[in-house]
Amino acid sequence: MGKIQILDENLIKKIAAGEVVERPASVVKELVENSIDAEASSIRVAIRAGGKHSIVVVDDGVGMGRDDISMCVHRHATSKMSSAADLFQIQTLGFRGEALASIGAVAHLAIESRRAESPEGTRLVIEGGIEREMHSVGRTQGTTIAVRNLFFNTPARRKFLRHIDTEARHVAQVLIHLAAGYPSLGFELEHQDREVFNYAPASRMDRAADLLGVSGEGLLALDYQAEGITVEGVLAIPEYCGKSKGKQYLVVRGRPIHSRVLADAVYRGFGGLLPEGNHPIFMIWLDVDPKKVDVNVHPTKREIRLADEGKVKEVIEDALRNSLRQPDTRSFVYDGGATPFEPTKIGESASTAISDRPSQPLSYGSVDSGKSDQLAFTLLAPSVPKGDSGHIDKDAIRADLGENPSIWQVHNQYIIVQVADGLLFIDQQAAHQRINYTKAMAQIEGLDGQSQQLLFPLKLEMGAADYEVFNEVRAEFQKLGFALRDFGTRTVLVEAVPSELDSWGEGEVFYQLLNEVRDGREAGRTWRDAMVIAFVRKTSVAKGERLSSEAMKRLIEDLQATDEPHISPTGKPVMAKIRLSDIDKLLKKL
Ligand code: ADP
Ligand code: MG
Repeated sequence: MGKIQILDENLIKKIAAGEVVERPASVVKELVENSIDAEASSIRVAIRAGGKHSIVVVDDGVGMGRDDISMCVHRHATSKMSSAADLFQIQTLGFRGEALASIGAVAHLAIESRRAESPEGTRLVIEGGIEREMHSVGRTQGTTIAVRNLFFNTPARRKFLRHIDTEARHVAQVLIHLAAGYPSLGFELEHQDREVFNYAPASRMDRAADLLGVSGEGLLALDYQAEGITVEGVLAIPEYCGKSKGKQYLVVRGRPIHSRVLADAVYRGFGGLLPEGNHPIFMIWLDVDPKKVDVNVHPTKREIRLADEGKVKEVIEDALRNSLRQPDTRSFVYDGGATPFEPTKIGESASTAISDRPSQPLSYGSVDSGKSDQLAFTLLAPSVPKGDSGHIDKDAIRADLGENPSIWQVHNQYIIVQVADGLLFIDQQAAHQRINYTKAMAQIEGLDGQSQQLLFPLKLEMGAADYEVFNEVRAEFQKLGFALRDFGTRTVLVEAVPSELDSWGEGEVFYQLLNEVRDGREAGRTWRDAMVIAFVRKTSVAKGERLSSEAMKRLIEDLQATDEPHISPTGKPVMAKIRLSDIDKLLKKL
């Protein structure tokens, strides 16, 4: 027998799952897209532990009969396409028949569904690709899909999952984008039994106002047609544009998409009206001839191709100019009675709800809260001697860490460690940046970084300025774990990304890195340092991220292993110590 064998079906499914299922948010995306395709009018998503424990999606769509339920978990099983000709006229979000099979291969999957005309529903349970049960159940019309213990049989993938709040934020983002694409449907998200948001079915304009968190005079309507292209949407007026790119939504024929080229057209449409360094806030629906949109380009269908992108770009620019440059004809979405603009960020409001939980307790004994505020003030301000952070004895920390070190996290921002002669305050973000900097530098100077292969390489196009920056740091990109190939004019094909990058975001991170490298360079860093620091910022824990005690312990250990644990790569102190004797003095014990 030769060496070549056909892989067994279960292994094939597991491999396929790698492309479709990256994290809880990708499961939610596939399931909710299926609900949309099934003509649901309201969709409820409930997750636990950021989706790591469970994801339940409930819809009131057409449902599936018994035969369909047993079919739907097979690979290439789809009700949405039956001939090659269909491929060119896809009206649904799914069509590859891969999602349920893939999810079933790497999780515990339970599907319950009932069609309106059936007297009863059916329940099917799949674990790691194996059918466990199938029987009739009583239930209402529609489908409920529960995905538990994601990646239970692929521990390497499970390890890649990030903190609960991070995963929950990704889930919220996915749903928010779908809510932008389908205003007439209701979308609800629950995390740990608490409502994160609940968008009732609405008109496009109302949904936009809801998601953008801007209303009244802050919003300008876009309604423009030319060359068979319709541009509809809303735009925050320039005065309200902010420093974040978080509120930019582009929907092409119901599909929420990320297109740098089309987003650029919006920036250009603003022209000189956009304050330097500010980013527009917008939600734009684009309607074009379906024959001119090629959606079958990217496996997650986020990247679509427009047959005549140049023309679409121009029309978007014109649409914006039309609304922005004629103050007299500015068509406000809501006349009069304008609610004052409140810059609530939709992404943030979702994440606040998610991350709103108590920090690790640091007990103040019986001091009441008023006094403890005062105490914290007087305590921290005068008694953190400047420069002391440079004299922290690594061995002393190590000795004190022992088996069960006393470590607390406060305000999801600082780690407090009890050391022999006092307390050590560690800035978690600065510490992690130092650790990742040391690692990234080692990669650049010697060994190559670890990569995760992208099954579908991503084509990234750059403007002239970006490309110039890219060429300066191309080698560093590669050393850090990016596998890149030239692919035409100012275009590269990304075949793998560094393992540390948790949110590759369809290439968005790549452009963000280039931006930050440019900023770093302007701030006087070398190209290499600018690149490493940009990378480190993307891969380090943030302020406000809750850490488990294991994570804190590891952080401290890793920090000790770096050669400059006291100072972050951008020059900020990583830690400061308060001596017990200083606390004693403050409390008049001495
Ligand atoms: P695709 O969406 O590409 O067809 P999936 O694996 O996501 O592939 O789904 C397989 C099939 O299962 C779908 O084509 C559809 O017929 C059925 N299906 C999945 N989810 C639902 C749902 N929520 N309601 C009704 N049918 C569904
Ligand atoms: Mg699908």
